[in-house]
Amino acid sequence: MDNNFNLASAIHRHSLNTPDAAAVVSQGRTLSYGELASEAGRIARCLQAAGATARVDGRLPRIGILASRSLGACTALIGAAWAGATYVPLGLKLPEERLLALLAQCQLSAIITDDEGAALLSERLLDAGPDTVIHLGRRPAVADRHAVKLRALPPPEAGAERPAPAAVAADDTAYIIFTSGTTGLPKGVMIPAGAARHYIAMITAHLGLQAADRALETCELGFDFSVHNMFPTWQAGASLHILPATRVMNAVKFAADSGLTVWNSVPSLAGMLRQIKALKPASLAGLRLTVFGGEQLPAGVVAAWREAAPDSAIVNLYGPTEATVFCLAQGGELPLTPGRDVVAIGRPLPGSEAAVLDPQGRPVADGTPGELAIAGCQLASGYLGAPELSAARFPDYDGQRWYLTGDLAIRDAAGSFHCLGRIDNQIKINGYRVELEEIDAHLRIVTGADVVGSVAWPCVDGTPRGIVSVVGAPAADSEQIIATLKQRIPAYMVPSRVIARDSLPLNHSGKVDRKALLAWLEREAA
Ligand code: AMP
Repeated sequence: MDNNFNLASAIHRHSLNTPDAAAVVSQGRTLSYGELASEAGRIARCLQAAGATARVDGRLPRIGILASRSLGACTALIGAAWAGATYVPLGLKLPEERLLALLAQCQLSAIITDDEGAALLSERLLDAGPDTVIHLGRRPAVADRHAVKLRALPPPEAGAERPAPAAVAADDTAYIIFTSGTTGLPKGVMIPAGAARHYIAMITAHLGLQAADRALETCELGFDFSVHNMFPTWQAGASLHILPATRVMNAVKFAADSGLTVWNSVPSLAGMLRQIKALKPASLAGLRLTVFGGEQLPAGVVAAWREAAPDSAIVNLYGPTEATVFCLAQGGELPLTPGRDVVAIGRPLPGSEAAVLDPQGRPVADGTPGELAIAGCQLASGYLGAPELSAARFPDYDGQRWYLTGDLAIRDAAGSFHCLGRIDNQIKINGYRVELEEIDAHLRIVTGADVVGSVAWPCVDGTPRGIVSVVGAPAADSEQIIATLKQRIPAYMVPSRVIARDSLPLNHSGKVDRKALLAWLEREAA
């Protein structure tokens, strides 16, 4: 293997060997490997001309990607990688306050946007952002004082030799993905290029991805499932088919129209398709492989999927962003977790180790619940600008570095792992990771109330479908609170209901008793 850990290396290789093969397909447009490499090369040249490719205090420059789930996002990301930068997804659905918080944390050297991203570039964001903004689409209208920051791509250099992707070392940061943080500020997970390259090569081999495969993309860049969808597909020389956000309800037809062979999504998407009765028998007959991951996989979803996709193997992949996408896998007969209607999370993938630990970091006996911890070559280097949090979540036990997932788990006698839920108050909503405390932190600021509590409600098949918040401020205006929250946190974190009450139930340590809140909602709904 060559010693350049640049994420764009596989695209470069295929652009030389199979330049006409399709790399990405979106909204009726196809980019071949040759075209993707050529576009990425133009972006890299543009970044270089803007002086945005120099290392900053020894680390790679960071480039923000503010683009829709589209060809633009893929070329932006490959362009940033090609130039030798760390890519940082800046979600399009994030409110301005949240984007400002991310910009303050990341010290970006440049931002790359498409038309949709450029439309979000407000005065405040341009003031707070880096000196270089590359727009891949139309030139956005900005105040004159910001115009100097804007750069369009240079024309392709006819017949010019494209420089190879810039040198990147194994411990350079390939990408930073932000996840929900309990304090109210998102946490930036820094993934080394060595961890990313190991994951990509390992999972491509494990799943047997082939150049003839046509794989589905359902995720935004800010969710690390997208790393799984993009890079292994490109590693194999296969094509990635981006499901537009507007066609999610028609995903089954999209799969058939696109001739998909590999399905990648959170189980929630399959659950939703099942609920709207879109999973007709053999309606996904073209699939040979289905990858579910990112949240618990209910048995009911598996049963419906087996009918819809009779020729597809199903794999349940487990992993936190902090251990590079997925680190445990359960395939084959998909055994269930005892006493629960969800699929086991299986065994560690090559290069990862898993253990169930007690609060002192000692392994517990098989069958005893404890915290699931992950070790191995896929661990993140830590959280951006948060050394104490990093030390707490990535402790050393007996000379080995672990990541404490916060998941309650058991290992069974056969060595398979089972996820039993969370030790903390993290939930998953449609695959999005949300710390309920983060919502609470914003609720306190917005309402001025000291005592607030958010819970996942309702739950269908044990999977949260919404969030309800209760505030200890009887005169609070619920609609106003929701409207203000929308300006601060991503839409998927905003509660669908805010209930104002005189007082909230507290537990023995004086904290809001979320179990009592849930019981109260249950009673109310009965
Ligand atoms: P994220 O960092 O967004 O990938 O979220 C990681 C968390 O999602 C894990 O710590 C688990 O709580 C949950 N998770 C991910 N994959 C699975 C799975 N296959 N089964 C159950 N929970 C999962």
